[in-house]
Amino acid sequence: MTGNPTCMPSASLDGVDLHALSACVPTPFYAYSADAIRRRVEGLQRALAGLDAQLCFAVKANPNIGVLHLMAGLGVGADIVSAGELWRARRAGIPGSSIVFSGVGKTADEMAAAIDAGVWKFNVESADELSLLQAVARACGVVAHAAVRVNPDVDARTHAKISTGKAENKFGVDIDEARRWFADAAHWPDVRLDGLHAHIGSQILELAPFEQAMSRLAAFWRELAAAGHRIASIDVGGGLGVAYRAGMDRPIDPADYVGAIRRQLHGFDGRIVLEPGRYLVAEAGVLVTRVVRVKAGREREFLVLDAAMNDLQRPALYDAWHDIHVLHEGGRPRARYDVVGPVCETGDTFARDRDLPRCEAGDLVLIAGAGAYGASMSSNYNSRPLLAEVLLDEGRYAVVRRRQSLAQMAENEHLPTAWSVA
Ligand SMILES: *Cc1c(COP(=O)(O)O)cnc(C)c1O
Repeated sequence: MTGNPTCMPSASLDGVDLHALSACVPTPFYAYSADAIRRRVEGLQRALAGLDAQLCFAVKANPNIGVLHLMAGLGVGADIVSAGELWRARRAGIPGSSIVFSGVGKTADEMAAAIDAGVWKFNVESADELSLLQAVARACGVVAHAAVRVNPDVDARTHAKISTGKAENKFGVDIDEARRWFADAAHWPDVRLDGLHAHIGSQILELAPFEQAMSRLAAFWRELAAAGHRIASIDVGGGLGVAYRAGMDRPIDPADYVGAIRRQLHGFDGRIVLEPGRYLVAEAGVLVTRVVRVKAGREREFLVLDAAMNDLQRPALYDAWHDIHVLHEGGRPRARYDVVGPVCETGDTFARDRDLPRCEAGDLVLIAGAGAYGASMSSNYNSRPLLAEVLLDEGRYAVVRRRQSLAQMAENEHLPTAWSVA
């Protein structure tokens, strides 16, 4: 999707005509191009050739089982942060041996489920979590493999809400504490602490913060190796940014990114893990929506869509920009719109004062860059059912999530007829 960012040269994605598709699948819905996902995965895999490296897709970016199944077929593993994501990854056919488990709040039950599924590595984020993992591994009669998530204290120069590698963030431990964990390894006989992990944030468009974090990990690995600790894996996290504004945002070239890995981790003889989420799926996905009406306000004109902030939260949550394309024949004059949804919040705004072709009710509109942190962050706010997701592949489509029905939306709710005492 290049060229004029507000007027699609063609209304098709991955060989599927979106007008025709919207006649079969009612709007709003998410559509993902399998081909675009494959190209991202294979581009990274090519850059990694010759290294002992494993891609672990960050499931939270897009947990649809159809998407995870596509990843599994490409040899991509999973980076999970909950028992729910573990369940999805396993259902999609991703083997436990290529799953890493991250997150600051792992519970004993989640650890036990992960051990049961044969999860390859726990990315441990606190001493308390390490003690709990020891207890759970002992109870399960296994040795759990763990990496320490180091907070490398680098500024990823991204949005504050998606920065995770600064000293003040809740993630990971500092290198002094990590050093003590290795020195005290005898305290955790049922945990094999043999990995290092860092993840400094998301939507990063500059190589320097990555390289700085990798260099800190590498220095720590060399120090630990010199002290006799065998390090079997170094996980460099995710965070690769994407082009939310076509022609403006410049994503890092995978060859440059992997070049930094090769430079910084030169001589490392263990496995290198990458946890990209957004990079693999964001640009492969669009939110397909329709204009409900054009409302002229006193100061500006509003384009009211049938999609809303509950379907795609990023603009409301992060002030995120998404390119918007109107799918109708050319020749209409331009207009400036605030592009909004029907939800009862002023924050339900996809774009302000956006230059677009003049629209009318029924026009099909695409919100681009919606394949990551779109459906995965959606909610039922305003009692709007979760929307459908469609996978496109070379002219064909498959509905990989049906739109939720009203009954499904409320299926666990009951009138208070049976009262209990706790
Ligand atoms: C969210 C997350 C990722 C993926 O981040 P992206 O910016 O989507 O690549 C990777 N690793 C961890 C630990 C995460 O929390």
